[in-house]
Amino acid sequence: MRDFTDTSAFRVAVVTGSTSGIGLAIARALAEAGHAVMLNGLGDPAEITTLRETLQTETGAPVAFHGADMSDPAQIADLVQATETAFGRVDIVVNNAGIQTVAPIEDFPVDRFDLIMQINLHAAWHLARATFGGMKARGWGRVINVASAHGLVASPFKSAYVMAKHGLVGLTKTLALEGAEHGITANAICPGYVLTPLVERQIPETAKARGLTEDQVIRDVLLAAQPTRSFVQPGQVGALAAFLCSPAAAQITGTALPIDGGWTAQ
Ligand code: NAD
Repeated sequence: MRDFTDTSAFRVAVVTGSTSGIGLAIARALAEAGHAVMLNGLGDPAEITTLRETLQTETGAPVAFHGADMSDPAQIADLVQATETAFGRVDIVVNNAGIQTVAPIEDFPVDRFDLIMQINLHAAWHLARATFGGMKARGWGRVINVASAHGLVASPFKSAYVMAKHGLVGLTKTLALEGAEHGITANAICPGYVLTPLVERQIPETAKARGLTEDQVIRDVLLAAQPTRSFVQPGQVGALAAFLCSPAAAQITGTALPIDGGWTAQ
């Protein structure tokens, strides 16, 4: 076990929505790179405790958890405070928590639209707002917004999601400009389809919206968009996030980086 009493020796990362899928893979990659990690997300408390302990044991990095609901700005403020209490500061923000609903716009439930905006877009603004001043003062920071190929191009029946993800790419550019002279970079990662619970859940919804079987959705809708015809792996997104936090990536800022098997090249 390394000595973590010297807090200047590692960076402190908050990864929202890291109890599952892409967020968990990013948290693991950052912990493996030696950074302290504050996990966040929903789920069974006992399972999350096991997850946190396993990650800490396997990586040797300090790992904590805060269950802030990212739709609530007050809880986001509490997440930042708890991280500062646990690890002294916040150096790396990964805005990853996200939800999806697939429906034609005329049937799109208004409460789901509001929630998608709050979790997928507004939360990133609140978390950046609460941590940017500290990053500026210390002259180092990383903001990574997990957008999507849907931050660059659209698909039907995902009006709220596409709107939120395009917004997230816009926020990324503004943060890059505001942080540029303060050692802070801001980038969006734009994954294509990654087989996580979020995608597994939307297969039946898409089947219903398009009148297809679930197998047809996987073959003709999801992977039809992705020229490699295979899912992106969560660990590949984690590795990209860790690279963006490394010294080699210090001049990469304001970008929206596709990791989408060629989807947005078409
Ligand atoms: P997932 O469902 O596996 O994980 C989502 C995470 O967000 C979970 O940890 C969940 O607990 C958390 N979360 C949901 N609502 C929350 C809330 N109110 N407060 C706090 N945490 C909350 O999904 P995923 O596929 O890993 O998606 C992660 C991100 O990647 C999302 O922003 C998603 O839009 C984006 N993304 C996913 C794909 C894909 O194909 N899976 C592609 C592009 C972008």
